Amino acid sequence: MTELTKQQDRPEHPMVKAEGVRKSYGQVEVLKGIDLEVRQGEVFCLIGPSGSGKSTFLRCINHLEKINGGFLSVDGELVGYRQKGDRLYELKDREVAVKRRDIGMVFQRFNLFPHMTALQNIIEAPVQVKGESRNEAKQRAMALLERVGLADKAANYPSQLSGGQQQRVAIARALAMKPKLMLFDEPTSALDPELVGDVLDVMRDLAREGMTMIVVTHEMGFAREVGDALVFMDGGVVVESGHPREVLTNPQHERTRAFLSKVL
Ligand code: ADP
Ligand code: MG
Repeated sequence: MTELTKQQDRPEHPMVKAEGVRKSYGQVEVLKGIDLEVRQGEVFCLIGPSGSGKSTFLRCINHLEKINGGFLSVDGELVGYRQKGDRLYELKDREVAVKRRDIGMVFQRFNLFPHMTALQNIIEAPVQVKGESRNEAKQRAMALLERVGLADKAANYPSQLSGGQQQRVAIARALAMKPKLMLFDEPTSALDPELVGDVLDVMRDLAREGMTMIVVTHEMGFAREVGDALVFMDGGVVVESGHPREVLTNPQHERTRAFLSKVL
């Protein structure tokens, strides 16, 4: 716990810090000791083959899964801690609910509430969870829709929007909670190619405004242009990390090279 106290005292603590993070489902170990640090304001790209544990890691950061080993903190606050011989530390369910408000997550599938308009989707959590007034939430939602280029779609239901538009509403919905960290899990993988660009543009703007983002993606162009750091994961471990341009143009490991040759 002393480590944590030290971290909180430092103004420039990392937004996410993972040390030896392990996660198993039953007998199967999916994360086998992940070490990484995401700095504040950084766009941190995570790549790797299907099944390598990328989504699981995001889910651990977002308190959707509890880690089985190692140390994990978000914004200097402990998410989970477990070392041999030490007592397990994990948050209680009520604490988890509070912490999750500060983390926005955007999934491959848009996950909008189908029976609500774009505007209603965005104001739901600020009103229900944070107790914001409907009026205030509505004004901010309109500003957010404007920001993602969809001011004219406020009254549309998800079924009346393209996949790319739905994904931009999903981003606006996450931003409505004023998160300090945004997690993107393959946000453009389910989109038709011509719709990918608009979503990446919104993410690029967000990065420019200084949002800390962890982005699981196969969009290497985005990683190269916008990313500050890139990690290649395979088989539940970090194989290689560095500046995106370096890793993408001069990968050091054979596994990284093999993966990149398939996606580039
Ligand atoms: P990625 O996002 O890199 O494709 P995932 O984190 O989704 O990888 O999955 C990593 C491994 O964990 C896969 O083998 C997957 O089948 C397994 N896995 C993921 N979620 C569960 C779960 N809830 N129960 C059991 N196994 C899971
Ligand atoms: Mg995944």
